[in-house]
Amino acid sequence: MTSGGLTECLRKTFVTLDQIKEITRTYPTPFHLYDEKGIRENASKLKEAFAWNKGYREYFAVKATPNPFILNILKDYDCGCDCSSLTELMMADRLDFDGKSIMFSSNDTPAEEFAYADKVGAIINLDDITHIDFLEKTIGRIPETISCRYNPGGYFKLGNSIMDNPGDSKYGMTHEQIIEAFKILKSKGAKNFGIHAFLASNTVTNEYYPALARILFELAVELHEKTGADIKFINLSGGIGIPYTPDKEPNDISVIGANVHKVYDEVLTANGMGDVAIYTELGRFMLAPYGCLVTKAIHEKHTYKEYIGVDACAANLMRPAMYGAYHHITVAGKENAPCDHKYDITGSLCENNDKFAIDRMLPKIDMGDYLIIHDTGAHGFSMGYNYNGRLRSSELLLKEDGSVQMIRRAETPKDYFATFDFTDIFKGIE
Ligand SMILES: *Cc1c(COP(=O)(O)O)cnc(C)c1O
Repeated sequence: MTSGGLTECLRKTFVTLDQIKEITRTYPTPFHLYDEKGIRENASKLKEAFAWNKGYREYFAVKATPNPFILNILKDYDCGCDCSSLTELMMADRLDFDGKSIMFSSNDTPAEEFAYADKVGAIINLDDITHIDFLEKTIGRIPETISCRYNPGGYFKLGNSIMDNPGDSKYGMTHEQIIEAFKILKSKGAKNFGIHAFLASNTVTNEYYPALARILFELAVELHEKTGADIKFINLSGGIGIPYTPDKEPNDISVIGANVHKVYDEVLTANGMGDVAIYTELGRFMLAPYGCLVTKAIHEKHTYKEYIGVDACAANLMRPAMYGAYHHITVAGKENAPCDHKYDITGSLCENNDKFAIDRMLPKIDMGDYLIIHDTGAHGFSMGYNYNGRLRSSELLLKEDGSVQMIRRAETPKDYFATFDFTDIFKGIE
């Protein structure tokens, strides 16, 4: 987690100190800020990278940034929604995404969520072979279009590095099960089939998608041969990562798209399956770099270490506390100052892991300085919680014309107490 050096201090932000000062005249810190221009440019590049595939579509993983304004921006690039829960399905439906534009990739799914997904016409992606019966009992039939999630087990390796350990993950069906599942689904009336797999998270290499694609394309050929199923789409899911640390190179989506194309021709086209649509369900890649958490330094503490206390905490951004994840930090207005002070940057939770950075080399921080915590646009706000009675912050959108729009207000104590409304002993608060 340690980093220092001038180049690392210089990592670019999409917001300046002057802009932050202007924004804080209306909206107090902390807040998550999203960069509309960056989101649009990136979504457009992704679309271009897969334009070779006629049916290509990105279903944005709503859980990464479940905000209606963000979903509507992505809609301009023909993105659909990948939902995994009832409220995510509701959000997609309320925003008038039609059924074909909603992928329901969930696991351990409650019956009412299958029922709701079916009601809005979403494409259901089954996590397990037992869910065939469960779904049929719940909605009274098997939908004509259905997808199954595959888990090849073992280790998923790229070159010499083990990327991840699917054999240890709770998701998806085994090889035998997915063949059996396709047979059963076909016998129960399914006509259009999809395959899905998610084998590694936050991959910072152009090789992940092509390697995953080869596994799924070969499986598709096998499934088609063994079950006669008409495979309409292959969903490469999420997992394309971003360089959280300054030493990493970002993925090049156009290279990824071109390499998936090569494998597609080698495996699918060569086997007479050249009309299969490619779907993606990216979350992090779509949004993470285009969001930041802006927070203010409110305390400095000198004990056995040097601490800077800020007005955000892990309730606003959980990744460092939960995974020890690195998020780059820029002190606004001190972009060119030497990183010659070592700090722990902390929030206020009564948990010692509530630290946005440990032993981080940064410019000297003065009280009132604004800290920009990078790459919080995905799995940032959305993982927020209310421990210690902390409230979720607002979400703001920095629009292309430079103006700022509030796209979610900050929680108030009234929101926090709202779930006690039913009691006589607690009257709520004003
Ligand atoms: C979380 C998730 C995604 C998105 O993952 P990223 O790493 O954000 O790209 C896609 N599909 C499913 C099923 C997921 O659970």
